[in-house]
Amino acid sequence: MPSLHQTSTSTDSTGLETSIGPTLVRERGQHEVFCGLTSIVWLHRKMQDAFFLVVGSRTCAHLIQSAAGVMIFAEPRFGTAILDDRDLAGLADANDELDRVVHELLSRRPEIRVLFLVGSCPSEVIKLDLGRAAERLSDRHGPHQRVLHFSGSGIETTFTQGEDACLSALVQTQLDWVEPHEPGAESALELLLVGSLADVVEDQFLILLKDLGLKRVGCLPARRGGQRLVVGPKTAFVCMAPYLSETASRLASLGCQRISSRFPFGLQGTTDWFLAVGQACGIPTDRILQVIRPAQRRAQLALTAMRPMLEGRRVFFFPDSQLEIPLARFLHDEMGMEIVEVGVPYLHQVMMAEELRPLSSDWRIVEGQDVDDQLMRCRQARPDLVVCGLGLANPLEAEGLSTKWSIELVFTPIQGFDQAGDLAELFTRGFARRARLARRIPIGVAA
Ligand code: SF4
Repeated sequence: MPSLHQTSTSTDSTGLETSIGPTLVRERGQHEVFCGLTSIVWLHRKMQDAFFLVVGSRTCAHLIQSAAGVMIFAEPRFGTAILDDRDLAGLADANDELDRVVHELLSRRPEIRVLFLVGSCPSEVIKLDLGRAAERLSDRHGPHQRVLHFSGSGIETTFTQGEDACLSALVQTQLDWVEPHEPGAESALELLLVGSLADVVEDQFLILLKDLGLKRVGCLPARRGGQRLVVGPKTAFVCMAPYLSETASRLASLGCQRISSRFPFGLQGTTDWFLAVGQACGIPTDRILQVIRPAQRRAQLALTAMRPMLEGRRVFFFPDSQLEIPLARFLHDEMGMEIVEVGVPYLHQVMMAEELRPLSSDWRIVEGQDVDDQLMRCRQARPDLVVCGLGLANPLEAEGLSTKWSIELVFTPIQGFDQAGDLAELFTRGFARRARLARRIPIGVAA
């Protein structure tokens, strides 16, 4: 049975109570989301000296191979160690086999600085203690090559949570903590951007932050796994995506200060992000607005061109990427779309506080999923656009609904002012495609 919540309150890391306005419904039932292994697709591109070794089954190997494709021109930076039932006839043998595979890989590929053992959900793998294996292998291959572990299991994670689990593991090894009175304290970061961004997008943010006067800004993950980042009690951090709650908790428990902000999607979201970050770092508001004004103008121009294709149309979000609420906010506030329903795999109210705060009770946010009920509501509503996972897109297209794969929104650079137009354009593609098909296919024939 779904449960209804009109409003609720929670407490963030500063102890302040946050209130939210939209109607929240919790739903439990069959859900359709990718597992956390999928995050390897974008993480291996970001961290150039990292290797992701999935410890899993043939299903895991197929998923990762078909999602990430085959690397033809370069040495691969992901792979799967396939475990079968018979490998676990003796767990000691399985550990020996894992050690052998890792040793061979790291000996042959000295350029790998961080190797992630990525856990999966087959019962054979769950029996293995990958945390202990990572420690054992780090002792053997460190300090030049480090072995970490995180879970990408479909039982524990949805696909973007894989990144959260990975970055959380990196916190313990990529960050060096210094107290204010210790040597090196002066080199501690002022600001840490948390979340994997395309390099070009990361550079845009770093340039604007430098123009604001922030000199020591770092990124987690760093582009090189071997890179060390120095942080201390004066280091503030800000998350670039809403699904990084475990990493945020870890940084907060170290003693870093979390900046609560909207997420940088669209002109308004990115403006609010810079205002929140700048103000937390003591920069006057008029200075922030002065620095970001040219980028705001570019974003405004791009969005004005896209708005007529989206304005007045109705959109329905199935739960998948965790980006649903900020993206729905962007489509509603900046593109004039009507929001029918926003599904999210889970709702972290503290991470999402700044996004939820301005929403009215007209918004219906469904946490979790009962896929049959949700499909029924979607069919009844007949929205103009459905944002959903790959598994639901084809059947809904066959029923005449336009869809957008939510996974595309994670693979594509969409954060920041200069990507605002691209973000809007992603949502227009389904309409453009359907219009092209309508010109070729008589009305009444399913596309
Ligand atoms: S981790 Fe689990 S859900 Fe993901 S591919 Fe492997 S078996 Fe499937």
